[in-house]
Amino acid sequence: MSNLFEMKNLNMHYPVTDGLMGNIKGYVYALNNVNLDIKENEILGLVGESGSGKSTLGNCILKLITPTSGEVLFKGENILNKKKNELKEFRKNAQMIFQNPYMSLNPRMKIYDILKEPLIINKKKDKKDKKEINQKIKEIINLTGIREEDLNRYPHEFSGGQRQRIAIARAIITNPIFIVADEPVSALDVSIQAQIINLMLELKQHLNLTMLFISHDLSVIKYISDTIAVMYLGEIVEIAEKDELFNNHKHPYTEALLNAVPVISEDKKTKKIILKGDIPSPQNPPQGCKFHTRCPYVMEKCKTRAPEFFEVSQNHRVKCFLCENKYC
Ligand code: SF4
Repeated sequence: MSNLFEMKNLNMHYPVTDGLMGNIKGYVYALNNVNLDIKENEILGLVGESGSGKSTLGNCILKLITPTSGEVLFKGENILNKKKNELKEFRKNAQMIFQNPYMSLNPRMKIYDILKEPLIINKKKDKKDKKEINQKIKEIINLTGIREEDLNRYPHEFSGGQRQRIAIARAIITNPIFIVADEPVSALDVSIQAQIINLMLELKQHLNLTMLFISHDLSVIKYISDTIAVMYLGEIVEIAEKDELFNNHKHPYTEALLNAVPVISEDKKTKKIILKGDIPSPQNPPQGCKFHTRCPYVMEKCKTRAPEFFEVSQNHRVKCFLCENKYC
């Protein structure tokens, strides 16, 4: 499979000003040297605690915010160099599903109009005839499990799960090939989460979609992803195919995240890493390995030197000195 997206040395550093004079007094280091590829037709799961930079990465890849430096290649072309009018095709091809469907849907618009809007925006106004619009809306509501009679209702008349179906329908109505799904099920009840994830898997198959699926929940990521990238304090620290990551993870942070997933039967003899304390402030990240303040295996060199990626096996890379010289 070839790469649909390639992120190269992506940095997003937000300036922090003193407010009164607007002088820059520091930076929030939200993304640091991120290098990440997304292959065609794969679901790349991006996991990490809140504040690790996952949503910033999702916003950068769609150019909803402009990174401080680096490149985002979409089909080999750097979208960060493109002007607004040159991005029209890209915007049609790459869509986003947000965490809170209620906030992302205009409460004053009926569902029909919410679904019609992207079709009008992506074609010149009035050029698309009503019959064609209605046909497309019908096709999409059939795919996403929305009833025809619901088109005449407003977002507040629906449950959270139904609203997320509407948000998904709106995202796919322009026939995109890529979706960023930013915590799309974390605001939903567990039983509804499963329905929405299954819907997304069906749509991925049916429409040949590629996805960046962002979540803090490893059990959700495990269910939906082909490949998983683990993020900590603005950096990718481990990336591998799903089974490899779950069966042969190497980074202590990945281990800690996996230990935080509740299991019914537990082997009490196995030593576990439990994450202590909060993730450090991205405004003042630790020197050396950014995980060293919470890592039970920390060594002296971890406090002053930042590890590069070490290759554990094909498609499995880890940013930890424990994997230096393949000793891990
Ligand atoms: Fe822990 Fe050192 Fe590995 Fe960082 S490089 S995760 S501090 S062992």
